[in-house]
Amino acid sequence: MPVEFRCADVGVACRAATTADTPEELVAKVAEHAKTKHGVELNQTLIDYAVTEVRSSEG
Ligand SMILES: [Zn+2]
Repeated sequence: MPVEFRCADVGVACRAATTADTPEELVAKVAEHAKTKHGVELNQTLIDYAVTEVRSSEG
């Protein structure tokens, strides 16, 4: 099942949406996006939060 993450979901003023086939792949893509677009290195806390957001949105 494809998963999607939006920076806006965690309060970042960014309209980008990242999609991937698995939460693990999504985290990797989001980490790359955060680093290149926002200059932010994702730490484990942010990753865990992002994954929680993704899973909670799966219903
Ligand atoms: Zn972003």
